[in-house]
Amino acid sequence: MSVWVVCEHRNGALREVTYELLAHGAALCMGAVTAVILAGPGEGEALAALINGKAERTLLVEDPSMSAFNGTAQALALASLAEGAQEPPKAILGAHSAAGMDWAPTLAGKLSCPAVTDAVALSMEGDSLTATRVVYGGKLQSKIKLGGAKMVIATIRPGSLEDEPKAASVETSIEATSVSLPSELGKRFIAWVEEAAGDVDISQADILVSVGRGIQDKENIDVAEALAEALGATVSCSRPVVDMNWLPKERQVGISGKTVKPKVYIALGISGAFQHATAMKDSAMIIAVNKDPKAPIFQIAHYGIVGDLFKVAPALTAAVRAAKG
Ligand SMILES: Cc1cc2nc3c(=O)[nH]c(=O)nc-3n(C[C@H](O)[C@H](O)[C@H](O)COP(=O)(O)OP(=O)(O)OC[C@H]3O[C@@H](n4cnc5c(N)ncnc54)[C@H](O)[C@@H]3O)c2cc1C
Repeated sequence: MSVWVVCEHRNGALREVTYELLAHGAALCMGAVTAVILAGPGEGEALAALINGKAERTLLVEDPSMSAFNGTAQALALASLAEGAQEPPKAILGAHSAAGMDWAPTLAGKLSCPAVTDAVALSMEGDSLTATRVVYGGKLQSKIKLGGAKMVIATIRPGSLEDEPKAASVETSIEATSVSLPSELGKRFIAWVEEAAGDVDISQADILVSVGRGIQDKENIDVAEALAEALGATVSCSRPVVDMNWLPKERQVGISGKTVKPKVYIALGISGAFQHATAMKDSAMIIAVNKDPKAPIFQIAHYGIVGDLFKVAPALTAAVRAAKG
């Protein structure tokens, strides 16, 4: 079975989700994963070098229409590659990102094949690719079997898969190819708007100190910031903290915020409602501080401290500072 991964890149760098997709794609097809790079002229080679060893081969298309994101151009290019392939892919995987949400349904329409979007897991069950999606606001997981289809398309929620490279670390062969695209795509790129300076991407942080409603007041966030500073961590939060304008939306962890998977997640005064827990439960180490011993967060925490965060967090900060000398 052959699996293609559509590599997502920005400003000459591959986005983290690409590595997750390559690792997972390789696990699904026992290593025979193909990375597809759609890039502007002169951009592809450097991106292909970043894939080396993580895929069996890289299909590289450079075209002026790919210099800036254009979902229609990407969908048409992918359709042309898949239709012309000697061994067509069984699955085409991409990120459930603004880009993936654009090209994937268009591609499914072009290829008349099924698409599953926002999957959190993929597996092979017999001959069928099976996708897992989170439904009813995270209360249930549904499994979708894509049995009879010759080809399927799936977009995966960033941060939901392991990103350990499982592909054989062989030299990745690069196949440069071209596609013929219409001059009028019906869609044009206008501008790239950067996030305001100072905004933080919590999904990239190694250590998160996350605050919940238990922090009680905006001014008390200092307590979490002091601990974060001592640890070299980033501050994130639960939804009520955003709703009360104590922290900006970019800091929210949860189904309506970001999915995170840091090395350490410290939850201060967070109950662990499933809308929050679903998006941080895969953190390598979860440390919860809550005064309620029955708080659900303790069910997923590796270490739990039943106590008042206003006593525990400053004590942790002092201990970290003392340990660092
Ligand atoms: C459609 C939908 C989407 C949602 N999306 C999200 C989302 O993306 N992210 C999200 O977080 N939530 C989301 N929610 C809200 C979610 O259901 C919970 O209401 C929310 O996660 C609770 O946040 P919390 O744990 O901070 O607050 P609470 O549930 O109020 O918990 C506060 C905790 O702090 C503890 N506490 C209080 N004082 C102290 C103290 N001094 N020391 C120690 N512990 C203390 C309490 O014991 C309690 O456990 C969503 C809800 C819906 C319906």
